[in-house]
Amino acid sequence: MSIKIPEDFKFDSDGKFVSYLKIPHSTNNSGWGSLMMPIILIRNGKGKKILFTGGNHGDEYEGPIALRKLANELEPDDIEGQVIIIPYLNFPAILEGSRLSPIDGLNMNRSFPGDPQGSITLAIADFVFQELVQRSDVVFDFHSGGSSMIFEPCAVIHHLTDAQQMKKTISATRSFGAPISLVLRELDSEGMLDTVVEESGRIFISTELGGGGFLSPKTLNIAEKGIRNILRHFEILPKNDDTFQGTRFMETPVDGGYIMSPNAGIYEPLIELGEKVNKGQLIGRIHSLTEIDCPAVEITSKIEGILVTRAGRAPVKHWDTIAVIASDFDVSIYE
Ligand code: ZN
Repeated sequence: MSIKIPEDFKFDSDGKFVSYLKIPHSTNNSGWGSLMMPIILIRNGKGKKILFTGGNHGDEYEGPIALRKLANELEPDDIEGQVIIIPYLNFPAILEGSRLSPIDGLNMNRSFPGDPQGSITLAIADFVFQELVQRSDVVFDFHSGGSSMIFEPCAVIHHLTDAQQMKKTISATRSFGAPISLVLRELDSEGMLDTVVEESGRIFISTELGGGGFLSPKTLNIAEKGIRNILRHFEILPKNDDTFQGTRFMETPVDGGYIMSPNAGIYEPLIELGEKVNKGQLIGRIHSLTEIDCPAVEITSKIEGILVTRAGRAPVKHWDTIAVIASDFDVSIYE
């Protein structure tokens, strides 16, 4: 499948280019049809180059809306540098309102670096990695919890082995200004946009802003303010004297950070997102749907910390993520 840079796109010229990636998609009802996926380039002079992506998962909405607004508002004269915006990265998924692509069933964030000869998700991933990531110094990818999880709003980064890269990433993440900046240990990092960008030595930041398949004014506001803060941090927008709202750096400990459902049932949460959790504290119960008289399974935390994620739907299956507990992370060695 061939996805090309639109002819009206000029990576070497200053200006604003609003266009569509033409993704061939032949169906029974549209034999020679294509999906037209929005892409926006705003460029002026020689400053830093940033790529913003939203809709990596099609049921996460803060990124798509905040980036759509940015694409409509930002003009070349406002900036020094280059801003590329893909508001709807897994475009077929966002059209469907689903996490995964309804066309090939793939998770965009397990499809990098992609394959130009592969199915639609792999071909989009390949285009984004080869043509857009390679033209960027910084990549910012918006996520939320999607239909199955809800997060206390967080910026998300990872533990990096390169201390200089880690230092720059922490500094940029602080400027974004989310209430929590989470240094996340991923359960499955193979094929993530995060992983391929970090391995290329670039700065990568993600978010987990809310979830449950809905939006809130609070989480959208964090996204919109954070975008401007990030553009100022990299001097793509002029710096101003705004003092950043403080962020709390936290991490997911190797042991006890993730709590998966030990069996299927209905999850009864006992604490709210953002609440403090003590070691050994009861945080929820799972009620059986098949045995009315068996006791509910009690879920306790192995560690002390803050509840940053919980199941976004009451019905849970065996090994669904039902809670993530984060503990404070000292970033002073990087500052
Ligand atoms: Zn996501």
